[in-house]
Amino acid sequence: MKKFLFSILFLAIITTPVGAKGLKGKVIYVNPGHGGWTVNDRPHATINYEAMDTMSFFESKTCLWKALELRDRLKAAGAKVIMSRTTNGWVSEGDKNITRNDRFETYDDGTGQQQLITLFKIASQVDSLNPDYFIALHSNATGGGDGKKVNYLLYMYRGETGNDYAKGSIARARVAFPYVYDNPLTVWTTPDTSRYIAGDLTWMGGTPPGTPNALGYTGWLAVLKHKVPSFLVEGSFHSYQPERQRLMNRDYCRMEGIRHFRGINAWFGGKPEKHGYIAGTIKSADETFTDSLYNYKEGTDDQWKPINGATVYLLDKHNVRIRHYRVDNEYNGFFGFFYLKPGKYTLIYDAPSYESRSEQVIVERDHTTYCKPRLHRYNYNIK
Ligand SMILES: [Zn+2]
Repeated sequence: MKKFLFSILFLAIITTPVGAKGLKGKVIYVNPGHGGWTVNDRPHATINYEAMDTMSFFESKTCLWKALELRDRLKAAGAKVIMSRTTNGWVSEGDKNITRNDRFETYDDGTGQQQLITLFKIASQVDSLNPDYFIALHSNATGGGDGKKVNYLLYMYRGETGNDYAKGSIARARVAFPYVYDNPLTVWTTPDTSRYIAGDLTWMGGTPPGTPNALGYTGWLAVLKHKVPSFLVEGSFHSYQPERQRLMNRDYCRMEGIRHFRGINAWFGGKPEKHGYIAGTIKSADETFTDSLYNYKEGTDDQWKPINGATVYLLDKHNVRIRHYRVDNEYNGFFGFFYLKPGKYTLIYDAPSYESRSEQVIVERDHTTYCKPRLHRYNYNIK
């Protein structure tokens, strides 16, 4: 038996090429953007909450939600993950904007986990640890003010467009882009073919090669000034208000984390995930929705009123209810089911004052099935 085991191991060693495929043993550095609850953490009012309320939108919070799901998927695939931070509420030392919800950053917060915010500290750590992949997660805002109808996906790498100073950055971004763009629940205002994959100096209007940091790396974005091929990804625009309301849902952010995982997994030629996902938005078939904090792009799915508090039931192939999802009250209509065995399922959409509907769906491995049900109101036209 021992001999048999030995020969299998031996076979595994000799058949695994140098630069083995897949994420097993690879080191991935994940940097969730920002860190605390300050005015620098991109706070915005939402329909239900005032700006600066920790229940409202903070990019620091939503980037962390994406990053934690990405970390979990990477770990499940056998990668070693380094996070610059794992909780929200950290600011760099001497930050004048510190709030009572914030603490100063640390390399070890007592649980063995660092909470780094200072971009130079993160870049220095990345440069010395030399991971196989580095990703910084953010969302974007238009310079022209809040509520603009602009929402696209943007990858920025260190250098000039077409000339990545850390070679391999453009190639990584090109592989990841289509996976992350694949989100039919949002409204993209530019087509996939636009593919915004840009050098940070070119995009931000800097003069090449940019200002060197203390390690000697040039470019624009401080977090990218290290030797590792990498990018910062603006996953969507939180200044597009219907998208901001979606980002208020942690599971919506987790779904983005899963899309980033697919882009990284594809780069390393990893195995597909064994399970699949369902994600959707449930909206009214009859009513549009307007609010001063909900400027939607005309003629798109975002015009329809999201149904707060709806329930989505998930039934297996034997028509047994196995899970349900309660839609939040944040005007996004989002629902999602994670880690499902591939196969046939039925969804039942249920909301007070609306006609129930059901839909049969197929879940495939390593894939998200998207649904966008719209329900009719009972007696909508009867006064
Ligand atoms: Zn950001």
